[in-house]
Order: sequence, then C-alpha cells, then structure tokens
Amino acid sequence: MASSLPDVVAVVPAAGIGSRMQTECPKQYLTIGDKTILEHTIGCLTAHPAIRRIIIAISADDNWFGQLPLAADPRVQIVTGGSQRAESVMAGLLAAGDAEWALVHDAARPCLHPDDLTRLLDLTRTSRTGGILAAPVRDTMKRGEPGNDCIAHTVDRESLWHALTPQLFPLALLQACLQRALAEGATITDEASALEYCGYHPQLVSGRADNIKVTRPEDLDLAAFYLSLRR
Ligand code: C5P
Repeated sequence: MASSLPDVVAVVPAAGIGSRMQTECPKQYLTIGDKTILEHTIGCLTAHPAIRRIIIAISADDNWFGQLPLAADPRVQIVTGGSQRAESVMAGLLAAGDAEWALVHDAARPCLHPDDLTRLLDLTRTSRTGGILAAPVRDTMKRGEPGNDCIAHTVDRESLWHALTPQLFPLALLQACLQRALAEGATITDEASALEYCGYHPQLVSGRADNIKVTRPEDLDLAAFYLSLRR
C-alpha cells in the first residue's frame, strides 16, 4: 500500500514573530489545551500516511522549538527561516532533497481537517501544476479609498476565494518559481503567487472555512473550539 502513496515532503514556515497577536512568544508557541499551536499543526500533517517527512523553518533566535517533544521526532528536520515568509519556505525547499511534491502549510493553521488534506493530495494524481486549499468569499467585499476608511466601491465577490494552506506543488517547479520571484523582487504572500508570477494557473481546491490562520488574539478561542470538536 505504501508504494501507492505520493512522494511528498511537507514544509512548515514557522519563523514568524506574530506581532498582531501581541504576545510574548511567537503565536505558533501559544498553547491550546496541552499542546502548542505548532504541535497541533504538525499533528494534522503526521496523521496522514503520505507525509513522512516535515521540514520546519524556525527563526535563528528561536528559544522555544528545542523544548518541544517534536524536536526529537525523527520525521522532523529544522532549517533557519528568513525575514519574509517566502524566504523561510525557500530554505525548507532547499533542504527537501529530491521529493516529487512539496506541501507547504502555515505553522499557525492548527485546524486543518484530514479530509481537506486528502482532497488536496489527490492533485498528485490529477494535476501537473498543483494547487491550494481555498474557501469561497462569503461576505460582500469593499475596496477602501487609499488613505481613509471610506468605501471606494464594492468588489464583485463572484470567483473570489480566500487562499488557505496547505498549498501543494511539484517540488522542482515551486523551487524554480519561488527562486525567480524572489530574485526579481515580486510580492509573494503565498506559494501560489510565485507560480502565478511565472505564468502558471494552480488549481483551487475548495476547503473548509474552519482552517483558520491564528492571527489575532480572538482567533485563539476559535481555534480551541474547532479543535475541541475534533476530539
Ligand atoms: O505572519 P503570517 O501569519 O502571515 O505568517 C504565516 C506563516 O509564515 C506563519 O506560520 C509564520 O510563522 C511563517 N513565517 C515565516 N517566516 C517569516 C514570516 C512568517 O516562516 N519571516
């Protein structure tokens, strides 16, 4: 059975400082129940049989990771991240060896549902470009006027999606696109934007809206609630 699984390495950027959380430690080290957010996130990945190797990018100043049991997990490898998320991801990809596919997942998304992960991994059979988990926009969208809080106009939400993670791409393709985008100074906020920059059109895989990124203090309670439903 194991041979039918795709050859996937997971890369988890966890080198951010999470300034919007206003906490003493980076948000990935805040705890929900008896585990840190990072441990919940990694647990979502290791629960899937296709994910046998995880590369975590941590900050050069990180004093927290080494204290977690995760640090002794043989499936986990550490690299030093960079000053932007894309640089942290690149550091992980450069350590990925010759895996066929790279699955990139934010450290701050601890509520990934196993069914979403499985549906994204199905792209290894159906796509040569890869794709991302994404959620259709529900609210009416407004564009603000630059410099003030007044509405310039309403943006048509038809075909608008929230880009989530994981994002899954052929490793060599993602490396090449990210390297070019970084070298040319493009604005890269997720992996898909690097592929778009190079002319590719990754697949949108509709995912659950509870796959939240813990960003603000109020997100912590919401993530704790979603995780309590999974137990
Ligand atoms: O700050 P934001 O929530 O957008 O970060 C998304 C993910 O990217 C987080 O898991 C964070 O730790 C990671 N990141 C990183 N290196 C940076 C900035 C963010 O690995 N320089």
